[in-house]
Amino acid sequence: MADSMATVKTTVLGYPRIGARRELKRATEGYWSGRIDATALRDTAARLRRDTWETLRAAGIDVIPSHTFSLYDHVLDHAVLFGAIPDRFAGLAGLDRYFAMARGTEDVRPLEMTKWFDTNYHYLVPELGPDTTFTVDRAQAAPVREFREAAAAGIDTRPVLLGPLTFLLLAKPAVDAPKDFRPLDLLGPLTEAYADLLEQLGAAGATWVQLDEPALAADRTPEELAAVGAAYDRLGAVPNRPKLMVATYFGPIGEALPVLARTPVEGVALDLVAGAADADRVIGAGLSDKTVVAGLVDGRNVWRTDLPRALATAGSLLGSVGELMVGTSCSLLHVPLDLDLEDDLPPGVRGQLAFARQKVDEVVLLGRALREGRQAVERELSEAEAQRTAASSGVVDSGVRARLASLGQGTPRPDYAERARTQATAGRLPALPTTTLGSFPQTAEIRRTRADFRAGRIDEPTYRARMRAEIDAVIALQEDIGLDVLVHGEPERNDMVQYFAERLAGFASTTNGWVQSYGTRYVRPPILYGDVARPEAMTVEWTTYAQSRTSHPVKGMLTGPVTMLAWSFVRDDQPLAETAAQVALALRDEIHDLESAGIRFIQVDEPALRELLPLHVADQPAYVEWAVAAFRLATSGVADHTQIHSHMCYSEFGEIVDTIGALDADVTSVEAARSRMELVGDLARAGYRRGIGPGVYDIHSPRVPSVEEIEESLRLALEAVPPDRLWVNPDCGLKTRGYAEAEPALRNMVEAARRVRDTA
Ligand code: GLN
Ligand code: ZN
Repeated sequence: MADSMATVKTTVLGYPRIGARRELKRATEGYWSGRIDATALRDTAARLRRDTWETLRAAGIDVIPSHTFSLYDHVLDHAVLFGAIPDRFAGLAGLDRYFAMARGTEDVRPLEMTKWFDTNYHYLVPELGPDTTFTVDRAQAAPVREFREAAAAGIDTRPVLLGPLTFLLLAKPAVDAPKDFRPLDLLGPLTEAYADLLEQLGAAGATWVQLDEPALAADRTPEELAAVGAAYDRLGAVPNRPKLMVATYFGPIGEALPVLARTPVEGVALDLVAGAADADRVIGAGLSDKTVVAGLVDGRNVWRTDLPRALATAGSLLGSVGELMVGTSCSLLHVPLDLDLEDDLPPGVRGQLAFARQKVDEVVLLGRALREGRQAVERELSEAEAQRTAASSGVVDSGVRARLASLGQGTPRPDYAERARTQATAGRLPALPTTTLGSFPQTAEIRRTRADFRAGRIDEPTYRARMRAEIDAVIALQEDIGLDVLVHGEPERNDMVQYFAERLAGFASTTNGWVQSYGTRYVRPPILYGDVARPEAMTVEWTTYAQSRTSHPVKGMLTGPVTMLAWSFVRDDQPLAETAAQVALALRDEIHDLESAGIRFIQVDEPALRELLPLHVADQPAYVEWAVAAFRLATSGVADHTQIHSHMCYSEFGEIVDTIGALDADVTSVEAARSRMELVGDLARAGYRRGIGPGVYDIHSPRVPSVEEIEESLRLALEAVPPDRLWVNPDCGLKTRGYAEAEPALRNMVEAARRVRDTA
């Protein structure tokens, strides 16, 4: 035992890139606006990288990763690294080309952006075709350059690369690729480019390289597993290469573990938080001559690690692996940087938290405990445990628990057909009713008013008066445009999750807890730490005010339970299903209050419904069950004449097409403009028979759609849905748009609906 103890080392798989004061955002946006030049941007980037390496070294991490930094996105970096650049960017070079691929220019459209596995991080999707060639520019290769940069600062690092399988599985076929082309067909040539890169890294002096293969944490076909085995056999044969560490995360890799064990790779990193089941598979998996990183510190959530339990798991692996390292479950990219930057957290909550910097200390402590024996760190361990387990006030709300127990799933609403009849007589809406999805443009003035109120520069009556004036204007505009179901415009909301989190008990907000969502867009997810309760109504005042200004119906606007959880850091001491039910109960009460105040249309947004879908198909039914139950619990208490709407922000429904119907909303609006209404047909074929509002134009673009174009989309949709079930609305909320585009676009939308109504 003493011998194996002596070999345990520590590592992390990656670290936040954005800087303690969001320096990366400021520098990047400064470069875009011409405020700073390329040299200044590169200097900031180099400083941020060096800060990270030095922080990790000073904390006592043994093996420090490099090439975890990115100016925009690491998947984009790999497309550039291997020269996989679509032809439309051919005229560009350097940073201009890089940012054009990320954001587009006036003339070229950017790469598509989509979610990184089940996180809220978004990556840029590489476009590949049969003619794509992969080459690594020897003078420019970023992993080599950054390894040297760290070495020059006296820090030996393990360069991190996205693995070849994951890179190809994240890519999509270029638009002009033949129908039967799959990016995975390119694994052979891509592996050769990796081989070349490994040689360069070996020549530069790297002893280890980390290859990230999170794709192995989703279900993989035998063919894909064989391909990954062959790729790593090939990379194992590269002469004078660094040792290879294949890192997997976001779930158990199961079947892929013995496949990797049979290849010449020297190490594997396992996510023993999301993939705890893999711990049992290590024994007997043939890893006795390999290094195994036990990812025991959660890189996806903000809670302190249960250190005694982590130690027990690590201890159980000791005899079955060649060398044990302790580390994080995945990169720390997904958690905020440093708890020490927070000064406003409730004390009972703060003690339970660990952000990236604190997680590094946990890894180091685990390493010491395994190396020197638990007694050597007993004091630190028990202090950490005392903080972690200290009960914080307000965690248990027995009133909420009792109500949930007596409500159960709630009584389901009567059949949709019956409700629809009641709603049709009560509503008196035209066929193809027009509406919007909630927010109107958030002007600089609105943002300033909210900031002034927060900072105490204006008092509450002034704030309310200004918000009401804004609502007046938004209502008047909608009447003028001729929309049928109006909204109040959400001027009081900074963010659709944070707004509610700030009003519900059980949630805490951070002041500096920024996490990269994409590029220079960072979010500050709230922390859901205790039982959720609604001390008072959250939206009724604004919605009823809006309703008092018009004779048209105004639609109330709420964020659904799944999305509240998906975009927060959620307590992990009870099943998500229970936490979701508590949020649902609070929403149920809010809906009841809206209804009592005379609101007849209530939209419950669930843009994150798809995001939380588990990576393994076998885990999906359980998720769908609680997600649906929570939505229904929130929405089933209403009278028949009240119409429940829901909204989702993506067009690829695939596996959740059935779930949309199961939510039992009366009307669902979805993103559809970019897929040319295809999904209306998909939903119809899947048996969806309720109201549907396929977004008729893309709000992510400033382009104003013509009347004819929208008309055509509506006629297409009418091939799959009857006119009494078709709603007309944009793709999503308008908050990121300006009035210069939003207003003409909505006018064209209303006109298109009129024309189709007249001739349908
Ligand atoms: N009601 C929200 C809005 O309009 C919906 C946003 C979303 O779906 N992401 O802003
Ligand atoms: Zn949306």
